[in-house]
Amino acid sequence: MMNEKYIYKCTDCGNTYSTKEIIYLCPECEKLNDTISPPRGVLKTVYNYEKIVSNNNNKDKLFDKIAQKGFIYLLPINSLNSLPYLKVGNTPLYKIQTLDNEQLDFDLFLKDDSQNPTFSFKDRASAIVSAYAKENKIDTIVAASTGNAGSSLAGICAAQKQKAIVFVPAKAPKAKLTQILMYGAQIIPVDGTYDNAFDLSIEATKKFGWYNRNTAFNPFTIEGKKTVSFELFAQLNQSVPDRVFVPVGDGVIISGVYKGFEDLLKLGIINKMPVIIAVQAIGSSNIINNINRNDFVSSPSNTVADSISVDIPRNFNMAKKYIVQNNGETIAVSDEEIISASKILSSRTGIFAEPAAATAFAGFLSYYWNGQLNKGSKNVVLLTGSGLKDLNAVQPIIDIPSPVKANIKTVEEFLAVKK
Ligand SMILES: [Zn+2]
Repeated sequence: MMNEKYIYKCTDCGNTYSTKEIIYLCPECEKLNDTISPPRGVLKTVYNYEKIVSNNNNKDKLFDKIAQKGFIYLLPINSLNSLPYLKVGNTPLYKIQTLDNEQLDFDLFLKDDSQNPTFSFKDRASAIVSAYAKENKIDTIVAASTGNAGSSLAGICAAQKQKAIVFVPAKAPKAKLTQILMYGAQIIPVDGTYDNAFDLSIEATKKFGWYNRNTAFNPFTIEGKKTVSFELFAQLNQSVPDRVFVPVGDGVIISGVYKGFEDLLKLGIINKMPVIIAVQAIGSSNIINNINRNDFVSSPSNTVADSISVDIPRNFNMAKKYIVQNNGETIAVSDEEIISASKILSSRTGIFAEPAAATAFAGFLSYYWNGQLNKGSKNVVLLTGSGLKDLNAVQPIIDIPSPVKANIKTVEEFLAVKK
């Protein structure tokens, strides 16, 4: 059926497309898009799974072989040499024995993706997009972003000697732009919202012949993000976790997690999907609110977890399909729960995560405290970014004490008061 390594399949109409030329959205569905609904026509990258299986005579060892080759059979690039030298992915998976005084009677694993080069999960996507651009001799990559995606693209491009251009809404906080500028990327502030910046970046891509990294537009962001699932399977001694808690904003990361397990399912390496829990902030829960609706209704988002604060989730259609077809679960947590979860996570495990990541942990805590996790089950929480990226969010719950006089007596008094 297919001679190419992979083809594109439209999430919405099911049309397939050759990958010989760069395309982003399905050309048919793209025509129907407007500014008030999630975009149609996001493409899924589909590999020649039969060929991968038939090229390997020892089916029991198929995953080992694929893993040894750095998953290149399941990536939209020709060579691992095109990837940045920075260490992207292969992040630690920590098994946590206890959160309070009691031993947990199920397994809790924390996947710490703040250990990526620019301190967020987004590096998985940037690395693949950058490698693809390199193989296709494109030296300028553009994205619209206010935070992690932009700084990730900027950092990866710095390592790869590529030019990164990031469209940002003019109101983006300065702290977020600092990391992008330190990596030497060009920032184009747009007098408008993130959506304006997004649309303008696409127009500029067409006009200037750049390559576009926007999530839920470039199909390879999902291909980069899916690698986390391959790692989880490997790190769990080649088993599928029972539950994976994922922070959800525009629906791209959760689709990536599903896609990784789906690839393994299509290769016959696994025979069931994990239950994936989409965790959103109550103040930005447009995926959860619309999952059972036919007509999409957006509520304005407002949450402390700014990297998952989204009015119109750009990958809504694909995320919805994955969640519905695989009996995924959803939970929304309040900002208070998110900040409290962030404190519990930092103080009891030593991992300081950004509010979006703490959102996934808050979802896990809710399941834990409500007794919804089966004895002996394997549960993973995906921690997508470092807490240092958003110190303002947690400042209200900490209290920096006034200084003591520089002698031991006042230290003694200080400690006595603190008791
Ligand atoms: Zn289509």
